[in-house]
Amino acid sequence: MCFYVKHHIDIFTGIPDVRWEGASCQEVEPVDPDGWSILSRCQYQDMLHHAFLYDFRKTDTFNVYVPAGTHDFGGVSWLNNPYGLIMPISNLANNILPHEIGHAFNLEHTWAGFDGTNCERVTRDITNMNFNADVAGDYVVDTAAVPRFDIEYCWVNGLPYSDCAGRTGNEYYYLNTTTCQYVGSNGGCGGDDYIIFESDVRNFMGYTRCDSPRTFSIGQGVRIHETIEYDISNRFSNTQTTIAALYEPYIGSYPMYFPLMLSSDHVK
Ligand SMILES: [Zn+2]
Repeated sequence: MCFYVKHHIDIFTGIPDVRWEGASCQEVEPVDPDGWSILSRCQYQDMLHHAFLYDFRKTDTFNVYVPAGTHDFGGVSWLNNPYGLIMPISNLANNILPHEIGHAFNLEHTWAGFDGTNCERVTRDITNMNFNADVAGDYVVDTAAVPRFDIEYCWVNGLPYSDCAGRTGNEYYYLNTTTCQYVGSNGGCGGDDYIIFESDVRNFMGYTRCDSPRTFSIGQGVRIHETIEYDISNRFSNTQTTIAALYEPYIGSYPMYFPLMLSSDHVK
């Protein structure tokens, strides 16, 4: 279960948005015996701050921090930013890693704004006065307007979203998770009937129970490419290399901080 919170912080100059794939942090948790090895959502900002301060961040690299585990979130990434992605070991080989990398390359959730006032309309006819797929939702035209499948039941019935969490039986209520077909008939933004294909159910940037395969759309690929190409925040140009370079062995060095970083290791 993921709960989306768009949170603005000011600690890191120039990094505007952070995505928490977990419940919102209500209070700062006390230091625990695991330190940052088993990370909680209330600790990761401190960890990143430390990494930035003591040069455990490479500005010419896509940085992925891998704690041994997490208490209460699946992954963290920053929109349009390659510097602060956090993935626990347990999620390195499933669909969460490409999901978080998608955020880093400026992809929004496919359901973005579905319960808001400026929601993405269903029509893909650019001559239709309701067409807004290029400026609403995830800003990608070839991903359908979709609800957040896990909580749609609660949205439709006016229930708190917590009533659709934690295997309550209400999660993914309108999703046939065997066939991966959307079976709801509630009407989407503006009252339009949703037009949702299996590829939308399987999209990496939605919330779903349908894996293997998950996919990105061509439009999402274009948005990623344009994020790198235009690089309006000047964060990706230094990370680019040649295809040939990918076949060369890594010639750098790895910092020694296993099993745990010592305070003396922090200062370079
Ligand atoms: Zn996400």
